[in-house]
Amino acid sequence: MVLADLGKRINNAVSEVTKASVVDQSAVDGLLKEISNALIEADVNVKLVLNLRKKLKATIEAEEKPGINKKKLIQKAVFDELCDLVDCKETELYKPKKKKTNVIMFVGLQGAGKTTTCTKLAVYYQRRGFKVGMVCADTFRAGAFDQLKQNATKAKIPYYGSYTEADPVKVAADGVDKFKKEKFEIIIVDTSGRHRQETELFAEMIQIGEAVQPNQTIMVLDASIGQSAESQSRAFKDSSNFGAIILTKMDGHAKGGGAISAVAATQTPIAFIGTGEHINDLESFTPRQFVSKLLG
Ligand code: GDP
Repeated sequence: MVLADLGKRINNAVSEVTKASVVDQSAVDGLLKEISNALIEADVNVKLVLNLRKKLKATIEAEEKPGINKKKLIQKAVFDELCDLVDCKETELYKPKKKKTNVIMFVGLQGAGKTTTCTKLAVYYQRRGFKVGMVCADTFRAGAFDQLKQNATKAKIPYYGSYTEADPVKVAADGVDKFKKEKFEIIIVDTSGRHRQETELFAEMIQIGEAVQPNQTIMVLDASIGQSAESQSRAFKDSSNFGAIILTKMDGHAKGGGAISAVAATQTPIAFIGTGEHINDLESFTPRQFVSKLLG
């Protein structure tokens, strides 16, 4: 089930129960069941769903006192639990500082939308008055540098890369050095995302991380990849210890639940969501806003 339908289905279930003249135990159980099924069909991890169901039931039952508006209570409890699902309170997002060098390293598998998102984020910060540069540290995929160059040129962002240097660690370090010397405030490092030799990819992420010492590492995750989002993000977490997630392709027919589960699996907050192929299609993420929009 895609995200838009998930919102509708949860909404319907809540309306159903709140429309009934008496909200009895079986109506509440029916609601819990329907919400759980909808979340599971949207690829949210089963354990997370069971946990949500338990908490939701407990809240509804605990606050059940005469005189309390049960319908309102249910609406609020559902909203709060959905917020909790996408909210990572443990880690705070890094905020780039002006007049300082902020190195932001991107990681993620090929096709996730990394290069596109690097450019979107560069534009986002440039608009907010930062001096931004982009470094292409993907020497594995032929055409990676050209793609970044094309994107950066279109967005008028200075860039760095090499057609001849095969060592991504060196390109990353050189690019960051160059921009640091030129007093750039935000340096975005795009990395490789090749699929096949994953152990090599993760080793490379560790080396680049050591070379450029990022202030923030962001994992780019395709929201449509379903359940495998969790294992993928755990593997990247171990190698690059990213501090933020950007979910891409949230505009498409993404189920999104797998990617949402990655937040809990890695205890990492979502910083932005990608909502289209255009350079401006990037929205900063806040759990309450996201859930409000989801529920329409
Ligand atoms: P990379 O291999 O991870 O660097 O991925 P790319 O940046 O090349 O993106 C892969 C494809 O996904 C491209 O066709 C992008 O235009 C597309 N893409 C990236 N982000 C989004 C998004 O938020 N929404 C949509 N619809 N497409 C996206």
